[in-house]
Amino acid sequence: MTRLLSIILLAAAHAAAQPADKLPRPTTGLITPIPAQAVPTTPPPPTAPQCQVIMRPLPGRGPENPGDAGQLTWNVTWDASVSAAQRAVIQFALDEWRNIVLDTTNRIPNPYPITIQFTDFGATSTLLALTSVSYFVASGNLSGATMSFNTRTSFYVDATPGDDSEFSSPTPPAGTDLLTVARHELGHAVGFTQTARIDAWLSNGIFDAARLNIGTDTTTGVGFHTSPSIHPNELMNPSIGPSTRRPISLYPSAALVARAFEYRIPMSFIDPNSPGSLLTGTVNQPYQTIAQAASAPILLFAPTTHHVPLNTIVSGSRTWSAARGGSIIVAP
Ligand SMILES: [Zn+2]
Repeated sequence: MTRLLSIILLAAAHAAAQPADKLPRPTTGLITPIPAQAVPTTPPPPTAPQCQVIMRPLPGRGPENPGDAGQLTWNVTWDASVSAAQRAVIQFALDEWRNIVLDTTNRIPNPYPITIQFTDFGATSTLLALTSVSYFVASGNLSGATMSFNTRTSFYVDATPGDDSEFSSPTPPAGTDLLTVARHELGHAVGFTQTARIDAWLSNGIFDAARLNIGTDTTTGVGFHTSPSIHPNELMNPSIGPSTRRPISLYPSAALVARAFEYRIPMSFIDPNSPGSLLTGTVNQPYQTIAQAASAPILLFAPTTHHVPLNTIVSGSRTWSAARGGSIIVAP
């Protein structure tokens, strides 16, 4: 009997992989979608700016750093204002970004220089932190960054940053989570900033704004962030309430810097409209078909129709998401 395979998957943007022992058995012609997670209810974000990105332009194109490709490494200058406990939390976030940027290509120096400090922003400042990013005007390539945390902020300094369980308790920690703010500011440091590379790659290219579908917020005086109305509770949103922890998301936060600076991250991309023949699955060179993605465990699909042969079997533990929570349509 010939059956028409026409399955519409509604994948949550942040659908988590299921535990291996609960996975459905591979079944010919049947794909079981991961249930969409409820959008977390969060208090309305503060309206005053809580983060500021300062761009420090350097003349010219700067070096292309062709010889330093490889996994991100940091060259950290720790200011004496950072306590040992604070340093341990920030180091955790540094290691997390290192394990996301698996290949820096040639748009930033590697090791990447960064200075980290706590300073007094003054009594009237509403900022939790700010990051200065040095970049070359003509190329948009990055040169280095300085992160400053406001000593007037009451930060929660987690002694066990790898354990988030206290945030799901009825009484989560008071104060602003230093780990989340460090993850966010490091996102700016690795490129979540409005340089020429962001401007050039957010439109008119493969996996462009329409397909990568990242909603951005460029409010004057705050800097380049994700849009809270489009991506609720996203790491790179410009504000955060107290008692809140946010993870580093592969999409949209890491995907955007990967798109702009040609990083390889632990997420592969599929877009049937990807041109050319160099299909590596990176956000700059997406696969065109599910078959090309082979066993890639984490995939972001362009929200369009993806054609597969009849009786295609997809087995194993996979996470499939559509850009901005759109629909993935799999059809013959
Ligand atoms: Zn920010």
